[in-house]
Amino acid sequence: MLTPALEPCPYSRHSVIAQRSASKGMSWEDTIAQAAEVVHRARYVVALTGAGLSVESGIPPFRGPGGLWTKYGEPPLNGFQRFLADPKKAWEERLNPSGPMRELWETLVRAQPNPGHYGLVELERLGVLRCTITQNVDNLHRRAGSELLAEIHGNATLVRCLSCVRRMPMEAVDLSQLPPTCPECGGLLKSDTVSFGEPIPPDVLRRCQEETARADCMLVVGTSATVYPAAGFPLDVHQRGGALVEINPYETELTPYCTVTVRAPAGEALPKIVEAVRLLRGR
Ligand SMILES: [Zn+2]
Repeated sequence: MLTPALEPCPYSRHSVIAQRSASKGMSWEDTIAQAAEVVHRARYVVALTGAGLSVESGIPPFRGPGGLWTKYGEPPLNGFQRFLADPKKAWEERLNPSGPMRELWETLVRAQPNPGHYGLVELERLGVLRCTITQNVDNLHRRAGSELLAEIHGNATLVRCLSCVRRMPMEAVDLSQLPPTCPECGGLLKSDTVSFGEPIPPDVLRRCQEETARADCMLVVGTSATVYPAAGFPLDVHQRGGALVEINPYETELTPYCTVTVRAPAGEALPKIVEAVRLLRGR
């Protein structure tokens, strides 16, 4: 499902900045206020979200306690190559899922966006948040109303043409013959979800890189930011002198680089931050 490249952090030499976290020893209210201040002062805010945000919507993570891979075992790391070797079989499995994929689909159908998703939508509508880069494939950002969205690992409800990179909803695809082909160019269609071993589609990767390059503040929400290339985005912002605001109940490898760390679930923290940003903007 997710791109597996778990490479060592190439920026670890910067760990001397580790103690910059101004949120140390601060009260919850002060931390929220400081996070809002940083967001308010920024010129171009981009969010990076990950599995933690989905977990708050009841979607199990892939790894860790209760994780799908923990329960069923890690999927093959060459999922994309397997797809290419036998796309018909891969599609049959996709349409009649079993094991972890079945559990994931059943959960996805039931899941609803949480206040963290809606908080990001509000920041977007305030003109503060310019893009949400998500590693989640669950479609919850779109369902919450995010419009400035880059789904770096794809979207499980969409199908993508491997030739022209056109995306379409699963319902719009003619499945009478498997594997289905692109109505535009005749190319092979695959779930938009980026498989293990599959390169990130060039259009979304470019968009993520461009948005990251513009950002002087990144909200890092519910992600341990260890999966590349997404893990590199906050470090890029940090290296250029931008601010990182981490919202995560758990400490991550990124915590030492963050200007503010809000140690709470996004569903609790983001609505508070949005409220404070609104006040700062006088709206
Ligand atoms: Zn096509």
